[in-house]
Amino acid sequence: MPDRFRNSTLLHVEDLYQAFGGKVVLDNIDLSVAAGELVTVVGPSGCGKSTLLRIIIGQDRPAGGQVWLDGHQLDTPNRERGVVYQHYSLFPNLTVLDNVLAGHRLRGWPWQKPPAEACELAEHLLAKTGMDRHLEKYPHQLSGGQRQRVAIAQALMQKPRILCMDEPFSALDPGTRETMQLLLLELWEAFGMTVFFVTHDLEEAVYLGTRLVALSPYYTDDRGDGDGVNRGARVVVDRSLRPIGT
Ligand code: ADP
Ligand code: MG
Repeated sequence: MPDRFRNSTLLHVEDLYQAFGGKVVLDNIDLSVAAGELVTVVGPSGCGKSTLLRIIIGQDRPAGGQVWLDGHQLDTPNRERGVVYQHYSLFPNLTVLDNVLAGHRLRGWPWQKPPAEACELAEHLLAKTGMDRHLEKYPHQLSGGQRQRVAIAQALMQKPRILCMDEPFSALDPGTRETMQLLLLELWEAFGMTVFFVTHDLEEAVYLGTRLVALSPYYTDDRGDGDGVNRGARVVVDRSLRPIGT
């Protein structure tokens, strides 16, 4: 990765607050992601990780605070933030290749033939994710790991500034999960990507991340009865794990 992309803030989240029907989920969340980082966000199930990711990709609007990408305040979904979910976001009626081309959101797709460069890029990405021998297959003919490989290629097809992943490997068996973790590290290195990776698995977060952000619900005993009331998750750990490029 070129040095000029290192240590520059790409994503900046400031004083983020999110609540649903009076229930606070996130409070006072500050975090920055530098270009080239692989930031892992860890926290217990239900603490608000997906809520944070949905705000970052612009799918949800926060009740308070701001999100900046490369110095621009963003509040609408767009292809600058590619996303991979736990459960496959593939179109069941499209082949592997067409699924990735669909990730490009071509005008007129699928009725107009995509330009040759788009096909070349799709095939290149599918080769990088190890799916080049399965281009004409349909999602139901693939294993869980293979579907996630296609989902990653689909997200990369949008040439995102940041790849956001929400527990992408959580539904996979341990062996496949490890293979996919290695693949992600390989792609991250090869493309010099910036990755925002959400997981409830601390081991995975520590293994993958160049930086670890931990969220934890914050409880206060407002009623004075010894039962804590959740005041929303906060960042309790934000620390560098290893330098980028190692
Ligand atoms: P995680 O991804 O860490 O498991 P989530 O972000 O999915 O947690 O959810 C955090 C909390 O916010 C949960 O209590 C969930 O029920 C609540 N929540 C998330 N989205 C909504 C929504 N759209 N409406 C109401 N409550 C929501
Ligand atoms: Mg979640």
